[in-house]
Amino acid sequence: PATDDGAAVVAAVEAVAERIEDERDHLTQLDSAIGDADHGGNMARGWAAAADAARDLDDPDPETVAKTVGKTLMGEVGGASGPLFGGSLVFAAGELGDGITPESAVAFAETYLEKVEDRGDARVGDQTVVDALTPAVHTFKKSIEVDDLPPIEALAKAVAAAERGVAFTVPIRARKGRASYLGWRSVGHQDPGATSALFILEELLVVAAD
Ligand code: ADP
Ligand code: MG
Ligand code: MG
Repeated sequence: PATDDGAAVVAAVEAVAERIEDERDHLTQLDSAIGDADHGGNMARGWAAAADAARDLDDPDPETVAKTVGKTLMGEVGGASGPLFGGSLVFAAGELGDGITPESAVAFAETYLEKVEDRGDARVGDQTVVDALTPAVHTFKKSIEVDDLPPIEALAKAVAAAERGVAFTVPIRARKGRASYLGWRSVGHQDPGATSALFILEELLVVAAD
């Protein structure tokens, strides 16, 4: 039933909140090199509040959990990333309907990526979260729709693709967000938002594989 999937999504949100808290200093260090040193704090605050809000829901379906997390991130995170990550999640949550299937997971992932691209006006190569999400979403979709892999294997491949996307942010120049103000000085730095997106995907895989 939908509420079983909903409970799994709540567990995933709790795992993400814990991981982001563990990585707070790491994310802050990355953002201090090319931004304003708040990405660790922004994300830790947002995900802790999101986990609290998700836990408080009464037998929710996946769409309700995802919408609640998105709204909470929008309210708590501020900066560029609140509306970007949270608002896109509220929008994409509609694709989950009341159950998680391979098809709804692909639709959710694609819609989320499109919304982030639209809102941030960023594409692959701009040294942003889009550099992690694009290979992850494309690999997930292809693994499900073309290779017919089980969802867990598709997600594992998506995580590996996101990892390569994060590595790709290092040798390129930032063209969006605060890091773009640095011009060529942004080259040689790993994007904080791409990195936190990778951590989130890693936790979704851990919870899904359980
Ligand atoms: P802020 O830049 O407002 O301080 P954060 O530090 O929390 O917000 O988040 C920074 C991250 O947000 C960047 O590392 C990047 O991945 C992402 N980001 C910023 N601007 C954009 C954009 N226009 N499009 C896509 N992602 C962006
Ligand atoms: Mg910042
Ligand atoms: Mg900021």
